[in-house]
Amino acid sequence: MDIVTCHCLKCQSELGRFRNSWNGIGNTYFSPVHPPLSVNGVESTGDIYEAAQGSQIEDSLLQDLACAVCQHVLGLRCDSAPDSHLLQHLNLPGSEGSGLLIFYFENL
Ligand SMILES: [Zn+2]
Repeated sequence: MDIVTCHCLKCQSELGRFRNSWNGIGNTYFSPVHPPLSVNGVESTGDIYEAAQGSQIEDSLLQDLACAVCQHVLGLRCDSAPDSHLLQHLNLPGSEGSGLLIFYFENL
């Protein structure tokens, strides 16, 4: 399977390396199917918050993911989600404690 390197849209720094297979969540969010090979360029930022009610991922706890270099927000990290939740049906890749990573992709 192809390995892709993801770069920050804003500053072009390397975010991480992934097998090129993704689960779509809605139209704009994607989560890696397989555990990331590396995610050194990404860090979680800000407070953990509840997903918007009425959204596909309501009832989960999320935290923003930002570029480690320029702090541009790139996606979400799922901190926890109830059993049988949409996000639990996806493989929860992430290394220990990091939960499910969800990226916002532009110009796929
Ligand atoms: Zn950046």
